[in-house]
Amino acid sequence: MSENNVHKMIIIGSGPAGLAAALYASRANLEPVVFTGMLLGGQVANTHIVENYPGFPDGISGPDLVEAFKKQAERFGTRIEFDNVTALDLSERPFKVTTYGGDHYAETLIITTGANPRKLEIPGEEEFTGRGVSYCATCDGHFFTDKDVVVVGGGDSAMEEGLFLTRYANSVTVVHRRDELRAGKLMQERAFNNPKVEFIWDTVLTEIEGNGVVQSVRLQNKKTGEESRFSTDGAFIFIGHIPNTELYEGQLEMDELGYLVVDKYMQTNVPGVYAAGEVADSHFRQVITSAGMGAAAAMQTTHFLEEQSS
Ligand code: NAP
Repeated sequence: MSENNVHKMIIIGSGPAGLAAALYASRANLEPVVFTGMLLGGQVANTHIVENYPGFPDGISGPDLVEAFKKQAERFGTRIEFDNVTALDLSERPFKVTTYGGDHYAETLIITTGANPRKLEIPGEEEFTGRGVSYCATCDGHFFTDKDVVVVGGGDSAMEEGLFLTRYANSVTVVHRRDELRAGKLMQERAFNNPKVEFIWDTVLTEIEGNGVVQSVRLQNKKTGEESRFSTDGAFIFIGHIPNTELYEGQLEMDELGYLVVDKYMQTNVPGVYAAGEVADSHFRQVITSAGMGAAAAMQTTHFLEEQSS
């Protein structure tokens, strides 16, 4: 440990929670360092258009919003490091943060590592990922212009992403394991009213098949047990998320779904370690709620450091 690599605050993750935390912390002169992880901006960087973040009445593209968050945080002294955290030691302060670039130390940590799409874990899913299987309509939709695709899931994500796919695809067939959607009413109405969207109810995918690229999916009706093959050019899977919490196993308290447990001050069970955004929130998962959690975590971290030095 040298003076140069001990920071007042390290933020792990660079989605809306991480970049909002960085903005607030840098304005409090904490000179935060953000380790971005694989994708600057996290999931919103893959979002075509964000229509529900206040201040942008016409919507704003995910990448543009991320760039604005980053620029605003950097303006006040945030250091953005395009690096991945590979290990953490929370047993004593300053906490040790190991990245591909080396070891770093932090008086406080804000964890904003988000979540990744849940997988179906059926034969063919991994083999055809990037060759017809996708978890991101915004990223891959244009590859399916005039093609037929299947969307798996019945939540808001499945409807939102499925509707986005109708811009490109000939047809979007939603395969849902029950006979009613989990998605909110507005999203349901939009999907039901879109002539390109069809539904196959009470049905799950059991296999994804193809020859180099996806050509069909095998289906099973949950009520009758009947099996069938459905021709399609792509399978978009939106069945929820798994929080990125592997680094914290055995060190931080998690709930039964693996999300970090925080109190109303975003404090984890280790003093000086805060968490914000989707890694600690399976419920709201919005840009604004994540950014709000990030701001709250940074404000609370500022109080924590003040108390420690008084
Ligand atoms: P979700 O609400 O948890 O929905 C997941 C869907 O996938 C459910 O319909 C579920 O079926 C299905 N599913 C789960 N595991 C499955 C499996 N192994 N095989 C087949 N189907 C499976 O997840 P989400 O849609 O990602 O949304 C998460 C949160 O973000 C929600 O609170 C949502 O409201 C919010 N969100 C909001 C917006 C928006 O407001 N614009 C957009 C996206 C997400 P069951 O219904 O049978 O459980």
